[in-house]
Amino acid sequence: MVACETSLMNVAEASPLVKYEAVIGIECHVQLRTASKMFCPCSTDFQDDPPNSHTCPVCLGLPGALPVINRVAVEHVLATALALGAEIPEYTRWDRKNYFYPDLPKGYQISQYDLPLSARGRLEFDTSDGQVSVAITRAHLEEDTARLVHEVDSNGKRVSRVDFNRSGVPLMEIVTEPDLRTAEQARRYAEELRMLLMTIGASDAELENGQMRVEANVSLRPWGQEAFGTRVEVKNMNSFRSVERAIGFEIERQARAIDAGERLLQETRGWDDDRGATYTMRSKEYSQDYRYFPEPDLPPLRTDDAWLEGIRARMPELPAARRRRYVEELGLSAYDAAVLVADLDATRLFEAALTADEALPAKRVANWVTGEYLRLAKVAGGEGTVPGPGGGDRNGIGGGGGDGEAAGQPPVSPRELARLVRLVEDGAISGTNAKQVFERHFATREGVDAIVAELGLRQISDVSALEAAVDEVLEANPAAVADVRAGKTQAVGFLTGQVMKATRGQANAAIVQRLFRDRLGA
Ligand code: ADP
Ligand code: MG
Ligand code: ZN
Repeated sequence: MVACETSLMNVAEASPLVKYEAVIGIECHVQLRTASKMFCPCSTDFQDDPPNSHTCPVCLGLPGALPVINRVAVEHVLATALALGAEIPEYTRWDRKNYFYPDLPKGYQISQYDLPLSARGRLEFDTSDGQVSVAITRAHLEEDTARLVHEVDSNGKRVSRVDFNRSGVPLMEIVTEPDLRTAEQARRYAEELRMLLMTIGASDAELENGQMRVEANVSLRPWGQEAFGTRVEVKNMNSFRSVERAIGFEIERQARAIDAGERLLQETRGWDDDRGATYTMRSKEYSQDYRYFPEPDLPPLRTDDAWLEGIRARMPELPAARRRRYVEELGLSAYDAAVLVADLDATRLFEAALTADEALPAKRVANWVTGEYLRLAKVAGGEGTVPGPGGGDRNGIGGGGGDGEAAGQPPVSPRELARLVRLVEDGAISGTNAKQVFERHFATREGVDAIVAELGLRQISDVSALEAAVDEVLEANPAAVADVRAGKTQAVGFLTGQVMKATRGQANAAIVQRLFRDRLGA
């Protein structure tokens, strides 16, 4: 009795979630995949270029410059809206969000306030505690700010410089309702959202380089209480792992504060990945007045049905639908489907290999992709912060490629993978040797048949050829033979192993085993 009470107290101490329910909402900014900026013709391809080399009067905010709407950016938001099952109003408006900061040349950001391009969507995904469905409040379009670079100049003085290359890059902001309840759910939401955005080509959405910026709003409330507690906004997480860790930390910090009778402040906190802790950035007690008003330099934007239909028609299969099809039509396990769909390269390889040989069992191809392929890809990609089960497109192959054999040269040819699985299926090579062939192909892209021939891995399935080897082993191992005769059938495994050794793994083990059993009447 006493022991029981003690352990309950320990649990309460260990996890704040015993006493409190966490309430989490996510705001996410993603850079849209466009050739030019949101309101000017400057190229967005400036990653390797010097600072301030991609600017013009519009994105420098010079007086008199006028914005022109980037159609592709709008279409990416509309596609996202369709993918989230969100409502799209007949027309939307642009608004000025006014504030002063050195990275904002105009003194305002063109954004959307009360008429966003889309609202009321939904995203569903799996977590370790089952399926979760999150309501999406809105997704709207705005422009990115410039980038401040803090450094020490040649005189040892600390200076801040402004790089306007990023100024005016199209950003989509996606906001959820406060529907999430655990740090894991929040991470999974972010991963699923990234996958969706990459699938529809709206964004490359790399957290590591700021193409996708996840901000989590976290509050606690005692179980059973309806009213929300004071929320804290956490930012600066640059991997999915950090999203989960930062929220986990924040939940514990808030629980400890509430337990200690402290009043929580509504504030913005940053995540320090090295310390594994959040820190105060600024108070939010008095919310800033952005003095929103309609952008006078841009007309309202109309979204007619024909335009939306065109976008819908171009939309690829979405991750959720793909997972469902893999399970229902191809007979994959839910786990395999999730792992495959979580990695665009894996998905492409799987689909293209099946296309190359339609008679192959999908399950076998899936095993190769989720097993050997992802293992080798992970090794090749190094120890990066890789999202999701199986990870994102860490080979940097990125969008575009149709059959996975386009310019990016993925390390595995779908045709060769199909050939390899075919050889195993037909018993032409053993499963173990096939892994060796795959590894070699992964490293060199040599053809599977050539590798099999060079390494002499073709499986010997010819019974008369195997009988000779079986006879030799029988003669050389009287003790094992006696064991089998005495009913110790495990010794068949030993004998089979001897034949495998003698044929350097080329013998068809199943046939060899059958021959031994026939000979020894086992
Ligand atoms: P702001 O733009 O000032 O950050 P919003 O009202 O737009 O504020 O909310 C931003 C995010 O915070 C949304 O994702 C919302 O779901 C979430 N949120 C609102 N209230 C809470 C709360 N009490 N606890 C956790 N998240 C919250
Ligand atoms: Mg916010
Ligand atoms: Zn420009």
